[in-house]
Amino acid sequence: MQIGIDLGGSHIAVGIISEKNIIVTKREINIEKINKTEDIKQYIVDNIKILISQVLKDVGAPSCVISKIGISAPGKIKNNIIYDMYNLGIKEFDLTKILSEHYGVEVAVRNDAKCAALVEKKIGSMQNYDDCVFLCLGTGIGGATFINGRMLEYTKEWGSEYGHMIIKKDDLECKCGSKGCFEKYASMKAFKNGIIKLLNLDQDISSENILKLLINKVNERNQEVNQYIDEYIENLIVGISNIVNILAPEAICIGGSFVYYEEILYKRLLEKLNLKNFNAVRPKVLLAKMKNDAGMIGSLIK
Ligand SMILES: [Zn+2]
Repeated sequence: MQIGIDLGGSHIAVGIISEKNIIVTKREINIEKINKTEDIKQYIVDNIKILISQVLKDVGAPSCVISKIGISAPGKIKNNIIYDMYNLGIKEFDLTKILSEHYGVEVAVRNDAKCAALVEKKIGSMQNYDDCVFLCLGTGIGGATFINGRMLEYTKEWGSEYGHMIIKKDDLECKCGSKGCFEKYASMKAFKNGIIKLLNLDQDISSENILKLLINKVNERNQEVNQYIDEYIENLIVGISNIVNILAPEAICIGGSFVYYEEILYKRLLEKLNLKNFNAVRPKVLLAKMKNDAGMIGSLIK
């Protein structure tokens, strides 16, 4: 029995995943309000163990039936260890070792954007493309690259970190230490923070309410909101153009919370891309099919 774990910046989800990549049962908890002063690593381990026992209980199975555990995590993965999970304030976390010792099975961890990309390639929007790029627009921008149908995986280092491609020289400071990184302008976090500032909204406003408000403002033809969206899309296109010039993908698939903004952002992105000249062949720009469960399933795809 395979267990998939999605360790996100705001939640932990655990599921039993079938050999056919279907979720048999899943459980999750929100960790957004976690007290940052407590031992966050211990907190994560404790909650993963609780969630695993809950999903096993759902199907009436003991823990000895677990054959493999996969983890999807933000941050950089090197030698099966997680590094730089900035949003949880974790610099280094050998979660695979802890779980492997506890359950006595193989545990593998993979970057969350790469998990989602593998799912899109196998059963989602990128199935019919050999050369394609996945961009995960969420808190930051993660990515993955497929050439000749295979995802580029690095033996010693991480790569396809499109979020840290510099699109503006000496501009906004990024957590990675550089300035002007793509994700400072085109991540969904950057987009939402800009809207909150522009409309003077409460910092804690939910994503659903931001979306509702934006739809109203766009329908009312609010000029400053429309200008802001245009500027966001133009920055996104700078990054996409760079990727197209370097890799000439047949398709670029966009995932992350961007997919919930199909009306407001995706349609406008397509309109503006149609007006653009590309040196390489114009790629298809697609939306990810698999939403929240992609990490959990992708953590187990070979
Ligand atoms: Zn950066």
